[in-house]
Amino acid sequence: MKIHEYQAKEVLAAAGLPVPRGKAVETVDDAVAVAEDLGGSLWVVKAQIHAGGRGKGGGVKLASSLDEVREHSEAILGMQLVTPQTGPEGREVKKVLIVEACDIASEFYAGIVLDRQLGLPVLMVSAEGGMDIEEVAASTPEKIFKASFDPTEGLAVEDGRSLAGRLGLEGGLLDEMGELLQKLARCFLDTDASLAEINPLVRTTDDGLLALDAKFSFDDNALFRHPEIKEYRDPAEEDPLETRAAEFGLSYIKLDGDIGCMVNGAGLAMATLDIIKHFGGEAANFLDVGGGATTEKVTEAFKIILEDADVKAILVNIFGGIMKCDVIAEGIIEAAETIELRVPVVVRLEGTNVQRGRELLEASGLELISAPGLPEAVRKVVEQAQGGGGS
Ligand code: GDP
Ligand code: MN
Repeated sequence: MKIHEYQAKEVLAAAGLPVPRGKAVETVDDAVAVAEDLGGSLWVVKAQIHAGGRGKGGGVKLASSLDEVREHSEAILGMQLVTPQTGPEGREVKKVLIVEACDIASEFYAGIVLDRQLGLPVLMVSAEGGMDIEEVAASTPEKIFKASFDPTEGLAVEDGRSLAGRLGLEGGLLDEMGELLQKLARCFLDTDASLAEINPLVRTTDDGLLALDAKFSFDDNALFRHPEIKEYRDPAEEDPLETRAAEFGLSYIKLDGDIGCMVNGAGLAMATLDIIKHFGGEAANFLDVGGGATTEKVTEAFKIILEDADVKAILVNIFGGIMKCDVIAEGIIEAAETIELRVPVVVRLEGTNVQRGRELLEASGLELISAPGLPEAVRKVVEQAQGGGGS
């Protein structure tokens, strides 16, 4: 689960990291009121969406008067913000964060992710922070310094200090940065985060350190341990089909291709994606209907696939064990009663109650393409997605 910048800063502040004062609001009047309350003479108006690169898309603006706060808030609230991370359709901005601006001496990067090869969290820092860290990582990876840490111990004191030294800091500021990095690592572990990033982490002209931007992703499977973080969920920022699937207890993930997949079991679903790729197709989703799915759940799953406008053909691949083939057949038939089968559907059923399942589909009068084996089914569905016919 991702959260907004203003929420990420609350998480950081609770862990003892320094963040600028500010507040997120939904109206222009509230934005001006917050700026007035904060006082000072320079503010930053920041679009709150679940995507980075906002500065480049015009979603982060400095304001040197209350009139400018009003002007920028008016422009940003309600805009369809396009950044390198949103895709061309952009994201509607529903909230802006108003913060007191600071004078920046230098911008650093600090981020933690899981290194799957090491099997450990890794803290990365760079003195080349700011808006182009992806570029730094790609063209001058030697400017990024890393230290992995033990998930039970946290970041070692000497590792925090050594990374701070790599950033060119000395004396009191080096100590401060070392401690800050340790707190960030502790926060990452304590919240079951899968990503924690501060970019930029700035050194101000009066030699303080401040997290000017923050980003977190949390492990969904650990959210039950963090009710306060779960509260941060913003369904408006999530894929509506994924949200609906989650409500029905379906494991559904939207992908980039055009072949919709309904499969039982995560392993078979993964294998199905591989085989689709092998035969030259691209899956539109991952979907595991689970073992003991009801007809209602299967119906919903099928509707979700059909509602994805990218889907040009559907593959139903069921190896019935605990899942019964007749339940799948009933789900498909029920879904077809409420929503038009607008694309070709290839069905491969095998296993428990397969005979009954096939009979139900046959009797339904639905135009389905059946295939006896998996390779045959996948070949057919790829062909359908690519315009049908052919051989
Ligand atoms: P992102 O583009 O989505 O990563 O948004 P950021 O919050 O990182 O803001 C983009 C850039 O705006 C930062 O790299 C800073 O250079 C600048 N910026 C953000 N906050 C402040 C601030 O308080 N003062 C100044 N002078 N610049 C800021
Ligand atoms: Mn940033």
